[in-house]
Amino acid sequence: MLNPNIETFLCCDAPWDEAKTVLFGAPFDSTTSFRPGTRFGPGAIRHESFGLESYSPYQDKDLLDASVLDSGDLELCLGDSVKALAQIEERAAQILDGGKRPFLLGGEHLVTLGAFRAVQARYPEVHILHFDAHADLRQDYLGAPLSHACVLRRCWELVGDGRIFQFGIRSGDREEFLWGAGHVTTHRFDLEGLEEVLDKLAGKPVYFTLDLDVLDPSVFPGTGTPEPGGVSFDTLRRAVTLVCGRLNIVGCDVNELSPAYDPTGASTAVAGKIVREMLLALD
Ligand code: MN
Ligand code: MN
Repeated sequence: MLNPNIETFLCCDAPWDEAKTVLFGAPFDSTTSFRPGTRFGPGAIRHESFGLESYSPYQDKDLLDASVLDSGDLELCLGDSVKALAQIEERAAQILDGGKRPFLLGGEHLVTLGAFRAVQARYPEVHILHFDAHADLRQDYLGAPLSHACVLRRCWELVGDGRIFQFGIRSGDREEFLWGAGHVTTHRFDLEGLEEVLDKLAGKPVYFTLDLDVLDPSVFPGTGTPEPGGVSFDTLRRAVTLVCGRLNIVGCDVNELSPAYDPTGASTAVAGKIVREMLLALD
């Protein structure tokens, strides 16, 4: 008997009833401010994941033992951000209502807003942990409130002051930094101070959003708005393992891989390996 060839992220083929974490992709990049192409991120991560081992020697854990279902990519309306966000929210809601954790693969960073709306509706006390080169706190970008440059500002409107913790931020306009100082906690340039924040967030429901451009472009050139001065792969790997292993992560996403800008494929491998380490730490 032959079965259809359905590609999932490496080993993420648990049945719905058994899955604790459910992956889904949002191939969307319509509001990208500089170089587009993140719509190809989720497919690239999934396809290239087969170049990785399912076993992690860092954590001594194997994806073969993890309970993860990859539910595939959404078919999103690329010309309509409102509609696309509603579609992302609907999928995240379905996963949450099944008692499972949504793990979103972007796409540009705006996709976070869709998943976060569903999480926030079910966990009103949720906090956000945000790794990024960019503050993403603009009120609007060229007049558009729905833009990847504004996504954390839109999330702030849902949760209010003191609930967003940013790390790695090294780019934004003066106004974003000024506004941010009164409303969110921003750790500039690197991931220093993470341990203290982990202690503070212990036991609370947390949404973790990882914009991969927090990495230095020498490690991760495959992204739309590369920002020199970022962290190393190993620094990020250790950090995501701590975050996903120690906190009560009720939803998360990994976004902003734009695979075509790195024809060597190394950026896609970096993204895939970070996703693997996150999935193993969450399990
Ligand atoms: Mn971002
Ligand atoms: Mn960014």
